[in-house]
Amino acid sequence: MSTILREQPLINEPPYAVDKRRVEEILAKAEACVGLSAEQAAELLALPAHFDEQLFASAKRVKQKLYGARLVLFAPLYISNLCTNSCLYCSFRQENTLLTRRKLSQAEIAEQANFLINMGHKRVLLEAGEDPTAVPLGYVLESIHTIYSAGSPGREIRRVNVNIAATATENYRKLRDAGIGTYQLFQETYHQPTYRLLHPRGPKADYGYHLTAMDRAIEAGIEDFGLGVLLGLYDYRQDTTSLIAHAHALKSLHGIGPHTVSVPRLRPASNTHCPDTYQVNDQQFARVVAVLRLALPLTGIILSTREAPAMRDFLLDVGVSQMSAASSTAPGGYGKESDSRQFEGIDHRSLEEVVGSIIRRGYVPSFCTGCYRKGRRGAGFMQLVAHGHIKDMCQANALLTLAEYVLQFASPSTKEAANERWESWLRAIPAGVMRDNAREKLRLALAGEGDVYV
Ligand code: SAM
Ligand code: SF4
Repeated sequence: MSTILREQPLINEPPYAVDKRRVEEILAKAEACVGLSAEQAAELLALPAHFDEQLFASAKRVKQKLYGARLVLFAPLYISNLCTNSCLYCSFRQENTLLTRRKLSQAEIAEQANFLINMGHKRVLLEAGEDPTAVPLGYVLESIHTIYSAGSPGREIRRVNVNIAATATENYRKLRDAGIGTYQLFQETYHQPTYRLLHPRGPKADYGYHLTAMDRAIEAGIEDFGLGVLLGLYDYRQDTTSLIAHAHALKSLHGIGPHTVSVPRLRPASNTHCPDTYQVNDQQFARVVAVLRLALPLTGIILSTREAPAMRDFLLDVGVSQMSAASSTAPGGYGKESDSRQFEGIDHRSLEEVVGSIIRRGYVPSFCTGCYRKGRRGAGFMQLVAHGHIKDMCQANALLTLAEYVLQFASPSTKEAANERWESWLRAIPAGVMRDNAREKLRLALAGEGDVYV
């Protein structure tokens, strides 16, 4: 096991003997990629620390089986930090008078998008505080259009995912029509008394409205949605199992499970007053990632720069499938120093450094936006994952988008590392039409043809 986890206090040993056969049964079910119930996930979260190796290895196998070696990269783009809410943990909260407030103009948003494009990014997560008057939905829609219009053919943002406040069905319809990728919203905590304590005022104080946001989004035709809890607000085991229960409930009600689950962990944020009673240590955090991978095998797991480089590298082997890289959490923060951040990030590596380290750890960095543009979304996408068909498409598209990155942005050492591996990466796709097609398209991409995908 990584040394990163050895120094952490261990998860308390339960006061009862663990039934090893039961654990093996649960893990066998998980490795059949059929998911776990919230109760089974709770059993895994309660295991003593010496089960970690086994859990992490199972999670790794499940990720490998369904998604292969690809790791999708993206960056957040904050368009505004104006907020009428009072979330105690967030520096954007209304009461924080020490924060410089900014709502970017469309020209500034285009500038930020161009900055990310020139780094090599193709996927953006648009983020904003909640201020229905100063930051209405019309402004968000215009911003999405601005981001999609930035750059030039071949050098552009191809997928804009969105993480904005819970809203009404008609607004979700407008977001869908604006061509968003995934709509993400974190429940923060499912524990109602804690939620109430941490969200004392503003529209977000309405627990029920927040909790039912995805039902409205799905009703409006948004097929790819992302859930999350802010780990560190309440007991991580309860919030993780509640998140799993939420995912299962949405699947049984609407026929679609979450496209992604994010695992933000609480970070220091300026002028905030969040109790630290429920801090989640590295070992517990890694356990959460593994259990989510086992319980929701078809769902992407997103890790942000809230985690340190060593932790992020380690979690590649525990089932993470998407990562932000080279992020700024301040509106206008790319290319400029800014004191208007939402919280302190901890992985300050450049995109190039992250790409290099992913390759060195045996994974394939991917900037793919293929599924979304080919209409492989929602329940249809899930079916492809469940039948093991996405893995090979992911591998092909990861190679094609990495080739584009390597040609335009990579350092000589990353270029060399990729050049040494194209053939072995291609061979990870089973021999036949798929591999031949990927090989031919890779030849085109490496010859400079942009935006090639399957
Ligand atoms: N304002 C919307 C909302 O709160 O739903 C949009 C998302 S907000 C810009 C992004 C997320 O950042 C929040 O959902 C929250 O989980 C997370 N966040 C806020 N403060 C944080 C902190 N101190 N550490 C880590 N994550 C934080
Ligand atoms: Fe506003 Fe979102 Fe921060 Fe809460 S988490 S204060 S809603 S930006």
